[in-house]
Amino acid sequence: MILVLKPGSTEEQRRELIREIENLGLKVHVSVGEETTIIGLVGDVSRINPYALSSHEIVANTLRVREPFKKANRMFKPEDTMIEVQGRKIGAGHFVLISGPCSVESEEQIVSIAHDLKKSGATFLRGGAYKPRTSPYSFQGLGLEGLELLKTAGKEAGLPIVSELMSTEVLDRFVEDVDIIQVGARNMQNFVMLRELGRTKKPILLKRGLSATLEEWLMSAEYIMSEGNEQVILCERGIRTFETYTRNTLDLSAVPAIKRLSHLPIIVDPSHGTGKSWMVSSMCKAALVSGADGLIIEVHNNPRSALSDGEQSLTPDDYAGLVPDLRKLAEFEGLRIEF
Ligand code: PEP
Ligand code: MN
Repeated sequence: MILVLKPGSTEEQRRELIREIENLGLKVHVSVGEETTIIGLVGDVSRINPYALSSHEIVANTLRVREPFKKANRMFKPEDTMIEVQGRKIGAGHFVLISGPCSVESEEQIVSIAHDLKKSGATFLRGGAYKPRTSPYSFQGLGLEGLELLKTAGKEAGLPIVSELMSTEVLDRFVEDVDIIQVGARNMQNFVMLRELGRTKKPILLKRGLSATLEEWLMSAEYIMSEGNEQVILCERGIRTFETYTRNTLDLSAVPAIKRLSHLPIIVDPSHGTGKSWMVSSMCKAALVSGADGLIIEVHNNPRSALSDGEQSLTPDDYAGLVPDLRKLAEFEGLRIEF
């Protein structure tokens, strides 16, 4: 349930109303907008008498929120959420590029890619240190050594870093070293991990699960937000369908749908979404125009010898050719370019 307050309500009146709601055993989420202030009720509202609240002198309107996600719901917060990381803004009209190799493989590899990306234009450097591989015999990532190398490359090129956390055992290291913590598709419903990430103050990049509905995905965001961390960035990375030509089916309709359902920023990953490097550029442009707040793109200096996901990785030259097109489109769409 949400309560829309009348304009001109005083701080003291609001505090009193919130106290009343909390006495009913509920939590509140307050969103102060330019025009209206909204109080969202979180918890079991089934026993609440909406008339008792709507008759309160500062309440203009009460609305039931049908969806199970609350803090992630746009009804709770009509304005877009903007997340700021090291001075770079994501969401609410700010468009970012997160780019880099699937896996960190060596110092030479990651540093060279980082410099190329910086030159072409990138907001963040990505690189996997822990890799969720289908086969236990495939390259699993360099672990903490990989994280160190990513950190070095990010510092040298002047790019904040993004990396995937696979186990809470190394959570403290990630909180210390990484600027945005990625939750991979396979861990989207690792609720224990989501709750722990909710207790940090780090921005979280939450990828959509392999077969997750929009509601399941937003409920995973809700797990993080319910613990107090509201800095969640969603990432559409393709879903399982009957189609096998592409690695996944990139669901670009998720972008406007999420924008309607939620205030959280959403970015798109055309690399995992298609699995084919030659499709990546066109899908990047389509994602931008669909209303996304950014892209995550795999780039490798030698895709053919990459230890993971080479077939879907752009070369630094491909990437350099794509960025000016993205700038033109971003300008056309009236976006603030953060790369
Ligand atoms: C990745 O970003 O390299 C990755 C493993 O992505 P996903 O979790 O979307 O498969
Ligand atoms: Mn990958």
